[in-house]
Amino acid sequence: MKDDKQEFLESEPEDDVVLTTLRASGWEEFHGQENVKESLRISIDAAKKRNEAIEHVLLYGPPGLGKTTLSHLIAKEMGANIRVTSGPAIERAGDLASILTNLEKGDILFIDEIHRMNKIVEETLYPAMEDYALDIVIGKGPAARTLRLDLPPFTIIGATTRVGMLSGPLRDRFGVVHRLNFYHPQELEHIIKNAAKKLNVVIDEKSIQELAKRSRGTPRIALKLLKRTRDFAQVKAQGKITGPVTEEALNLLQVDSMGLDSSDVRFLRAIIDKHNGGPVGLETIASTIAEDAPSIEEVIEPYLLQIGFIKKTPRGRMATKLAFEHFGIQVPASLQQSLL
Ligand code: ADP
Repeated sequence: MKDDKQEFLESEPEDDVVLTTLRASGWEEFHGQENVKESLRISIDAAKKRNEAIEHVLLYGPPGLGKTTLSHLIAKEMGANIRVTSGPAIERAGDLASILTNLEKGDILFIDEIHRMNKIVEETLYPAMEDYALDIVIGKGPAARTLRLDLPPFTIIGATTRVGMLSGPLRDRFGVVHRLNFYHPQELEHIIKNAAKKLNVVIDEKSIQELAKRSRGTPRIALKLLKRTRDFAQVKAQGKITGPVTEEALNLLQVDSMGLDSSDVRFLRAIIDKHNGGPVGLETIASTIAEDAPSIEEVIEPYLLQIGFIKKTPRGRMATKLAFEHFGIQVPASLQQSLL
């Protein structure tokens, strides 16, 4: 799956340029997530009034929903510099120390995939987050001593797709915690319209609605589908994105009427066809379709749960009646009762 969906979500280098061009540069361009935006703006205003750094912020939710974009917007609103890193990139406590000691008053440090930070680095982060201090151990053995370095007040913005994997002490050190939810199709329509304008693409209403409906509630997917449909239209329809062009492009991309792509379909069909609708354990499905379980949990399942195509039970995953109906398959008699 790393090959198709994960990569699709994590974006390719060529797409990065487009996605960066399309990145919301002001709050007015960031559609949806109204509650999150509202409470972030209150935190920002309060911090500005007190002339302090904003509290540490944790943003979590599936990939592509706007965590990185929001972090940049927060920095812009605070008039702060933002340094960007990720959990796995900070390999040793020393790496973290050098990042932190280079921060200036009010700076923001954005740590993506913060759940993948190693334990020792994480423990070094605790006093830094709580007391703006860094404890450095000098020397070894009995002669070792700890030196405490003061840091300027700064803000960590952590982003994660797996909030459950964060340790309690780390989570507790974030004063502001927000979950980003999947977007409504109407919100995605706004995002697509805005992006089409920026890209100078001619697109009709029907196509905007169709792309929004098939984007798995995710702006990053909406923007990529728009871009790929634009390429398709350029080659096949003099650059104009119309209903039939969109339909053909999405079929070519193997995105079905509910926005499910080939890995979603393989996952669902494994439960339905090979395990009779479930319940079946995650590891078993993972080996059936040769994917790794964490990526399934992180990338495939959240949306399928959201649209009610699967449910999690103590005995494993089950496909729901809706999923059976989507594929035009009769619900087996043995499942009729449990799927009501
Ligand atoms: P994440 O960090 O959650 O994986 P990103 O912030 O990288 O997601 O967003 C992916 C892409 O989608 C970016 O190009 C971003 O500009 C766009 N995007 C995300 N959320 C929104 C939104 N609410 N409005 C407009 N564009 C958005």
